[in-house]
Amino acid sequence: MSHFEPFISVAALGDLSLIVLPVVCVISAAALARGLALRAHVDRKLAEMGERELELEKAALTDAVTGLKNRVAFSKELEALIERGGQGEFAVLFLDLDRFKEVNDTLGHKIGDGLLKGVATRLRELLPAEDVLARIGGDEFAAIVRVDPARRVDDLAIAIVEAVYEPFLIEGHVVHVGASVGIAKGMRRTSSAEELLRQADIAMYDAKFSKTDSFRIFDERMSNMIALRSSMRSELEKAIREDELSLKYQPVVDSHTGELSSAEALLRWPNSSQGEISPGDLIPLAEESGQILALGGWILDKALLAVRELKDVPVAVNVSPIQFRHHGFATIVGDKLLATGVAPELLRLEITEGVLISHMDAAKSTIRQLRQMGVVVVLDDFGTGYSSLSYLQNLDFDYMKIDKSFMKDLGRRQLATQIMRCVIELGHSLELKVVAGGIENDWQARLLQLLNCDYLQGYFLGAPMSLEDLHAFRANNNIHEKLNRAASQELPDLAVRVANG
Ligand code: C2E
Ligand code: MG
Repeated sequence: MSHFEPFISVAALGDLSLIVLPVVCVISAAALARGLALRAHVDRKLAEMGERELELEKAALTDAVTGLKNRVAFSKELEALIERGGQGEFAVLFLDLDRFKEVNDTLGHKIGDGLLKGVATRLRELLPAEDVLARIGGDEFAAIVRVDPARRVDDLAIAIVEAVYEPFLIEGHVVHVGASVGIAKGMRRTSSAEELLRQADIAMYDAKFSKTDSFRIFDERMSNMIALRSSMRSELEKAIREDELSLKYQPVVDSHTGELSSAEALLRWPNSSQGEISPGDLIPLAEESGQILALGGWILDKALLAVRELKDVPVAVNVSPIQFRHHGFATIVGDKLLATGVAPELLRLEITEGVLISHMDAAKSTIRQLRQMGVVVVLDDFGTGYSSLSYLQNLDFDYMKIDKSFMKDLGRRQLATQIMRCVIELGHSLELKVVAGGIENDWQARLLQLLNCDYLQGYFLGAPMSLEDLHAFRANNNIHEKLNRAASQELPDLAVRVANG
């Protein structure tokens, strides 16, 4: 206000104006200049504020790590696309990285951020500029892509999965991750943004839990599966409480004498509302719902009762990574051994690499505590994951169990047979006893004997059975004869050559 006072003063000056006017004019001109400068300053400030506001708005819509759009911007774009209407189909892709948490936990957040940037770059390279791409959560990305006959969304999903699968080099670290992709197809005007994102999310989840597919396209059955999963949760809770689950025991035999050396306890749920559910489906369900600790505890209790009944046959129990990592797992095992009076040497715990990947030090200390108690620790499913030699070197296992997938080409393909030979030798050089699983015929058993494998397990020797049947199996053990008969079988030429080195 004070900058405009000189103009009011000019009107009030009267006769003095001739003398005073030039002075006043000079003052007014100065005031005018000041006023204009101020105006320019204000304008500049306003413009700056506008820019700042735009910047803030942009920042509010941008993901700070990757520079892609964020979830808010993505939803706005999707809503706008649906609103605009017109012809045409499009699809929403929802991508979630596999093993991102492991990278973050083991290599740190800086490498984790580097990985997110790397993924963003690869996705941007795959998608044309007009396709919307966003990071919408920790390790979740989403895209809106145009779909037409020349551009199949399945092909795009495969290309994305393959691109992410290629290793990343981040600050000298080679980082391997995977991706699970869910797809929801939408039509303009007829779709809702929220619903499409939900469908793509469900489809992604389905892909993540599938053992065979890395991407899935949403269909209504998936929604039913979600409902089923939540009803299964309460059913499982009741099944644990009311002892409706059971364990079967699969024999593991000495490869040279054929004697029963131990039995592996395998979970069964015979009467669920969905019929028999395989542990391969049940365990992930329980891990996801947080019921694995109760279930794992129930399995241990039941297996220890079986050991007591079998007296001198060790029983191996599979332990879920979540259960194994749970604070105080070794103490829980120790308490259960004390409570049942079972000798620790008769309990074997089978753990998979999943336990070790992101929590190496904790795993090391739990394994040490268990072994100090006398419990036997088995590395299960060797050969299915990273099969890192550093795990074998750094951790004290007693046994190594070669996964049944190795059995498929054994004796049929030279390379597969040679690999089996090397893996057995590797185990022995680390002073581990080696068990091979999934043996389904006599010559596989014979070949593994020749390759000096210590223990054998598989349908050929005995399928998972009840405790009573295991007693009978032991009493009438005819495995020795079976192995003798196997020894007289003609082996494929190739197998003999590899076995004899
Ligand atoms: P695993 O520990 O590798 O167990 C071996 C699986 O191979 C069992 O499947 C067994 O029935 C099957 N198998 C045995 N011999 C043969 C054979 O000759 N050929 C073929 N094709 N398969 C054979 P199952 O019982 O369906 O269990 C699958 C997986 O579920 C197990 O793999 C284990 O990872 C998990 N699991 C089973 N029971 C439990 C449990 O009590 N607790 C936990 N945490 N996981 C369990
Ligand atoms: Mg096992």
